Amino acid sequence: MTATAFPTPTPSATLALDVERLREDFPILSERVRGKQLVYLDNAATSQKPRAVIDAVTRFYSAENANIHRGVHYLSERATIAYDAVRGRVARFINASSPAEIVFTRGTTEGINLVAQSYGRSTLRAGDEILITGMEHHSNIVPWQMVAAQTGATVRAVPITDAGELDLDAFDRLLTERTRILAVVQLSNALGSINPVRWLVARARERGVVTLVDGAQSAPHLPVDVQALGCDFFAFSGHKVFGPTGVGVLYGRSELLERMPPWQGGGDMIETVTLEGSTWALPPARFEAGTPMIAEVIGLGAALSYVETVGREAIGAWEEELLAYATERVGALNGVRLIGTAREKASVLSFVVDGVHPHDVGAVLDDEGVAIRAGHHCAQPVMQRFGVPATARASFAFYNTRDEVDTLVRGLRRVRTLFA
Ligand code: PLP
Repeated sequence: MTATAFPTPTPSATLALDVERLREDFPILSERVRGKQLVYLDNAATSQKPRAVIDAVTRFYSAENANIHRGVHYLSERATIAYDAVRGRVARFINASSPAEIVFTRGTTEGINLVAQSYGRSTLRAGDEILITGMEHHSNIVPWQMVAAQTGATVRAVPITDAGELDLDAFDRLLTERTRILAVVQLSNALGSINPVRWLVARARERGVVTLVDGAQSAPHLPVDVQALGCDFFAFSGHKVFGPTGVGVLYGRSELLERMPPWQGGGDMIETVTLEGSTWALPPARFEAGTPMIAEVIGLGAALSYVETVGREAIGAWEEELLAYATERVGALNGVRLIGTAREKASVLSFVVDGVHPHDVGAVLDDEGVAIRAGHHCAQPVMQRFGVPATARASFAFYNTRDEVDTLVRGLRRVRTLFA
């Protein structure tokens, strides 16, 4: 591969966030846990919610709640307008060319399952290959294994290097005339590696391969432009981008969505129904059977507006600085080994402490009020690749501070003392 496959980092000097002020927008950040000030470093699992999101959901239930699309009364019309307006907001957030390309889902997992069961199941044949990578979250592995078993296709995976980067030479070898789908994560939740997705997608498209990008971790941390990426599908979750749980987004290029069969049947996804058979609504309704998560969609709209107001460039710049600081400080501790040292990284610091199980690391830090995650991070193949049962993972958001990193480091020193 060439060095140009990796994007150049954004210079951070000119972009400053007033982090202390922004923290006030998040009520939970002033909570105390176990008698200590909360230090929330588990953002890759789920992010905290600003008051704007909490208020939008509360307002909806307090004053606007109604089911959408079929009502003729005032509240239903208002709820319908509010729900549909978020589609446009999401389209702008990821630069889709039309709101019709935005399907609301329960989250990234459901978006990937939708593509596997609709596009994959209706097009894959025995002998076809689905190409994933060795750093995927289980939600970008298992749905492909399931559809492979249903169709006779095979799942292959691009290996990763010791630094936690994709082996791009291997990618070139594995992308063959049998490959039908490429499904790749943009930002790894287990390693923090940023993959050169634009380059991978371009390579795949040259061969007519349909591409899906798992944007669960990238949407909260990197500016996303699906047209520039050139991908066919892009999935992300509301709860990781400061919105509610239970809602997510699947972007699909119209041309593909229009050709895809529904994967769930029910109300709202049909054009006509008789007792003999049914016809389907156009996308995106075709893929949204039943009453959707209306309040959550409205909360997601508030979350995306909030992120845009803070400024995605500034968020990226601050998080880059914070990760560099944390990498330097945690990496300098005796007996700590970083897992994932890719050249391009964001927001995630995975590590192991010699002779201490990650769960014990997590428990000692929890005692200090520091919330990190310890485990396989739903990426067991990554743990197998690095020969560890689990890692400890600190993951950052724009509201985290250098002081919080210092608290993490003090906690890790205590881990070393307790287990020495
Ligand atoms: N992909 C990645 C990279 C993730 O980090 C996650 C969640 O941690 C998912 C997919 C699944 O997201 P969700 O559980 O919100 O569907």
